[in-house]
Amino acid sequence: MKSNKVAQNYSEKASELLAVGKNSDALKNCNNCLRFATAESAESLKAMAAREKVYTKFGSLKASVDNLCSSVDSLEDLKEDFFKLSHPPNPKIPFIADCLEVKENDVYGRFIATKKDLLPGDVVIMEEPFYKIISPSEKNSRCSVCLKQNSLNLISCEKCSAALFCSKKCAASKIHEYECGKIEEHFEKALLQRMFYQSIQICGDLSGLEKLMNNHDPKKTIMNFDLNDPDNNNNLKNRMLATMTLAEREPWSSEAYAKYELVTRELEQTKTEDERHFLRKYLVHCMKSMTVNFFHFFWSSEENSPGKGYAICSLAAYFAHSCDPNIDKIDVDNKFVFVTRRPIKAGEQLSICYDRYNYLTHSLSDRKEYFNRVYTFDCLCVACAKNYPLLKDMSRLDDNFIEPKVNLNSFDDMKQQYNENCKYISDNITNYPSYEICILMNQNNRLLYAMGNLLPF
Ligand SMILES: [Zn+2]
Ligand SMILES: [Zn+2]
Ligand SMILES: [Zn+2]
Repeated sequence: MKSNKVAQNYSEKASELLAVGKNSDALKNCNNCLRFATAESAESLKAMAAREKVYTKFGSLKASVDNLCSSVDSLEDLKEDFFKLSHPPNPKIPFIADCLEVKENDVYGRFIATKKDLLPGDVVIMEEPFYKIISPSEKNSRCSVCLKQNSLNLISCEKCSAALFCSKKCAASKIHEYECGKIEEHFEKALLQRMFYQSIQICGDLSGLEKLMNNHDPKKTIMNFDLNDPDNNNNLKNRMLATMTLAEREPWSSEAYAKYELVTRELEQTKTEDERHFLRKYLVHCMKSMTVNFFHFFWSSEENSPGKGYAICSLAAYFAHSCDPNIDKIDVDNKFVFVTRRPIKAGEQLSICYDRYNYLTHSLSDRKEYFNRVYTFDCLCVACAKNYPLLKDMSRLDDNFIEPKVNLNSFDDMKQQYNENCKYISDNITNYPSYEICILMNQNNRLLYAMGNLLPF
């Protein structure tokens, strides 16, 4: 709901912060003010003017940086150049390396493997999750539709206070039109809504969705679909069907189920008996695949940072867990980028670490308890089988090892340190696990986050 009174509070806060030079916090308050202010109200004009002030400050800051390194492309260009696939793309799925495949066995079910040897630092997937939503805490700095960061000129929804958009295109999106005024605060409920409204947008209406779902074959995976179809709508339909093939699991508690039921009931309103029957089946399907396939956007490498976005991917969902993962997931803008941590041989499985429960920071018994409770599995990874030591107990194997540099100032310094780390890991992998390689793999994870989100290091 719009409220100029709430907007006024944010606007006052923004002015206070601006006066003491806390520009980025001021900006968030300006954006919150815009969310709540009615169109063309005094409050919204004030917020725009305050944002203009911050922008001028940022602008002049940027101008002085540009002056210093006029020969260097903008940071965004450097980032774009760094985060791209390290191998030719799969001809049908342009965001994954052609050497990846989805395999299946009795132990792991479906999983991702590589057909080629990979080196540390190889970017193998850059997937923009098909269904994604922003957490309420980030609504003042990211687009509600595509999740891209854009603090400086987000546009407010004219009708509700729950959405800001990065561009006119996102502001005109049908998805928000459906959601406007109805967005649930709770992450999972909001994602279920998004899955439904986005699907309706792609299929036109409920009967279009039902027709598409008749083509749904759960035995397929994303690898069976053509996501390079020049017809954008076919592409979207294929991405939707690919998502529908993900594994399903019953929600773990009746409490969780009841939470979804509320949304389901709301979406079922004003439908005929037949439509309700199909819709219920569809939503239960979405709900079951969501409970087992969701990912968080963190946009931060901090160990305890909370999830700031919530998403479902049609390929990344096949990553198996390992407490000693060979792949890092890095959140860059609205994409998940998957990067190799150390050399991987052709034929090996690719793994990520679920919920940051890795062997360097969590003991074997902690991990065992956690994965049994949350995921009901016993981890079969090598770190569990061989009970690898915690990082603090790990032996140093290289007397000549030089601790990696910290406080790196520029993107290029970070990139250089990252490349040096990758080379050391490659050259010394026969010593793994060792203190030296683990330190460097950890630093690489933090460097990737810093470079991907243009953060200081
Ligand atoms: Zn957007
Ligand atoms: Zn709205
Ligand atoms: Zn394990």
